[in-house]
Amino acid sequence: MRRVLRISLRVATTLVASRAARRLCCLIIATLVLYMAWPGWRSLSTGAPFSGDRWYNPYERSDENVGPWLKASFHSHGRAWLGLSDGEHSDQELFANYRRRNFDIVGISNYQRIRPPFPGEDLYFECYEHGFGLGGQHQTVIGNKSVRWLDAPLFQTLRHKQWIIDELRAGAELVIVNHPNRKNSYTLDDMKSLRGYHGVEIRTRFAKGIDHWDAALSSGNPVWGFCADDCHSVTRGHIGNGWILVHARERSREAVLAAVKRGEFVNVRAMNRLAVNGLESLEVNDGVLTVQLKRVADMIRFVGQGGKILHWVSRAGRAEYEISEDDSYVRIELNTRGTFLYLNPIFRHAGDPFAAHFAPAGSSAGTATVRVMGVMLAMLVLAIGFPSLRRVLRLGRRSRQHGSEPTE
Ligand SMILES: [Zn+2]
Repeated sequence: MRRVLRISLRVATTLVASRAARRLCCLIIATLVLYMAWPGWRSLSTGAPFSGDRWYNPYERSDENVGPWLKASFHSHGRAWLGLSDGEHSDQELFANYRRRNFDIVGISNYQRIRPPFPGEDLYFECYEHGFGLGGQHQTVIGNKSVRWLDAPLFQTLRHKQWIIDELRAGAELVIVNHPNRKNSYTLDDMKSLRGYHGVEIRTRFAKGIDHWDAALSSGNPVWGFCADDCHSVTRGHIGNGWILVHARERSREAVLAAVKRGEFVNVRAMNRLAVNGLESLEVNDGVLTVQLKRVADMIRFVGQGGKILHWVSRAGRAEYEISEDDSYVRIELNTRGTFLYLNPIFRHAGDPFAAHFAPAGSSAGTATVRVMGVMLAMLVLAIGFPSLRRVLRLGRRSRQHGSEPTE
């Protein structure tokens, strides 16, 4: 009798366990199906190099661009979320510290939180760092009035990454991909396909994104490089290592945004506190790219397709490069006494230089279709593990059949 009871107990335990295991499996698979379906339909493919007879030059001279060069930072962290995030000092302390270092524009980009403008501040940009997933995909979102709480927190396929960029850009002035190398959050292959964002961090405390920038540019994506501090403290040497110098046509919010969007700014990575070089002019004339600097640089490099160094000049304040038929873009980087400057690229185009990059990657109809199919597939999977759901689905089918019977 005891043996029978023991066997019965074991069989019952196995049955319960297997049913529980089956249900758990179904739940996990259904969740994954929904997770994969939610970004919807996105058209994604590796882009082709820039082509066309014309050259887009972000520093092109005109009668209008005679305004000031403004020192700007868009990526820094104050204390937020009751100290749970890793900003060490208050937003006010952070702001005052940047001001003392002659920053004209200080963007405080706390995680998922927008700092309201400081009173009387005319050049303040609302920004925040978006992203709270395990994969470390973060973006600086500038000019948004409210925080977006969407993300794909487990892992991100290329479609997830594109979906998030599309959603963030819908309410923002600028979207910058942050520290793409960190946790390999954005791969070089990702950068060949992603579009619709404005720039990528190339040098910060955490970012080494030059290769990512070249991968994007080599695939015909007109995006700008960004240097920043990504500082989390005002006392540990976090401030004043990376910034951008924006050539705005006047000292106004609109003029700064317009200049950043057209790429008329210079990235600075200061490895010491020595005087920083600056850009006097950059011109393309008769197939020759000419750069004129404010001071003599130790080294000036011209970089092109695939990140290849095309030409370099040492100890010069002016340099020229004869553009070849094979060049799709050319960007210039230079260093002067350990401080690096990264200029935005000139690139080929045949008409509107930004049209393809900012064309919608998805469609609402396609996304709705993929999501509906995902929900249906998830319900089918759940029905395998949950008989009660099967009964509900059958009931629904019967009532529909009953309702469709002709009445005479
Ligand atoms: Zn950050």
